[in-house]
Amino acid sequence: MTDARRLVPRTDTVLAEPAVAAAAERLGRAVVKGAVVAAQDRARRGEIGPADVPGAALAALPSAAASLTPVVNATGVLLHTNLGRAPLSAAAREALGLAAGTCDVELDLATGGRGARGAATVDALLAAVPGAAAAHVLNNGAAAVAMVAAALAGGGREIVIARGELVEIGAGFRIPDLLTSTGARLREVGTTNRVSPADYADAVGPDTAFVLKVHPSNFVVSGFTRSCEVDELTGLGVPVVADIGSGLLAPHPLLPDEPDAATTLARGAALVTASGDKLLGGPQAGLLLGGPGAGAELVARIRRHPLARAMRVDKLTLAALEATLRGPVPPVRVALDADAAVLRARAEALVARLPGVDAVAVNSTSTVGGGGAPGVTLPSAALSLPEPYAAALRAGRPAVLGRLEHGRCLLDLRAVPPESDDAVAEAVAGAPCR
Ligand SMILES: *Cc1c(COP(=O)(O)O)cnc(C)c1O
Repeated sequence: MTDARRLVPRTDTVLAEPAVAAAAERLGRAVVKGAVVAAQDRARRGEIGPADVPGAALAALPSAAASLTPVVNATGVLLHTNLGRAPLSAAAREALGLAAGTCDVELDLATGGRGARGAATVDALLAAVPGAAAAHVLNNGAAAVAMVAAALAGGGREIVIARGELVEIGAGFRIPDLLTSTGARLREVGTTNRVSPADYADAVGPDTAFVLKVHPSNFVVSGFTRSCEVDELTGLGVPVVADIGSGLLAPHPLLPDEPDAATTLARGAALVTASGDKLLGGPQAGLLLGGPGAGAELVARIRRHPLARAMRVDKLTLAALEATLRGPVPPVRVALDADAAVLRARAEALVARLPGVDAVAVNSTSTVGGGGAPGVTLPSAALSLPEPYAAALRAGRPAVLGRLEHGRCLLDLRAVPPESDDAVAEAVAGAPCR
């Protein structure tokens, strides 16, 4: 014991070894030093030999300075909030790299003077929604709704909203609480299941700042129901603001009931708010679009509000959002449009690559998730495995997250990009389940 203790290399000596020094460059000296000290302790306890200290320290290091683990989304839920919603396109990832250093986010390189922050991203948004007269980008959808309420109704003015649209977005976040936290007052109209244009008309008065339509994006009410479209509410003498939620910019044939920005503006909404990381397929962001007429002036007012600075997005978001808008179809939209027969063929090809594993290709059902297209199901295909695979695959790197159904672990392929099939096959083949 005493001999081993004397032979354990000193911390500085281990840290000076080229491989260990390189790891400290990449991961930070404190993390690497902690791993070296832990390896020295193991050597003193006789668990490893003194010569094994550098190798043991390197083996215990994390693979990156940030601790997030990549996860293959095989849940069948296209937009999984717990997995960070939309995966970015290659173009958006490249844009993140460009923006990571110093860049001209708020500088006019032609004149050397200050430029309009994020102007290129706003231009991309206006190009994608030609019916919009003005646009602004904020931190997320909730920030967009809160800013509209604060700027237009903050001093105790009223927002007229249907009782059936007082929704909880998720994890306890409720639109009505968000609105009233800005100092606005709510004037609720209609009942849980029904509201008519007359209900709105009766409620609008001198204190009304605007009428708000909120898309019930994570539930469906059916039966004896009636809600109002934006165009039924535009004649009341106050702006109509529509929180469409999922960020569809134009109608999508598979999602006929999902509101989109272009149609909502065309129906007369003064302002439309949406998220950037739902069906738009981009980074977390809040989109604010102003219609022609009053909308553009309202967007300008919101940009000038003191709170706008607190909701401002960073250069990384601006870059990734612009690339999402201008670049190739983002992964979420590729997954949404994927043909079920192609998914089935991929599942069968995976089974063929896994001899000796109790794996079968099955048909399955995907959903959009993440606050979009409630009630819509998409035909899909999955690799069906014994249930213990679920935990084993979650522990892998990358982790693979499936879903449990009828005592089997299903790896649904709709949200898995085809280029990840190799990773799925390797993860299943290597899982300690046989
Ligand atoms: C998702 C959603 C929000 C919140 O958007 P975040 O980007 O998550 O802040 C607000 N309203 C509706 C209708 C939504 O679907």
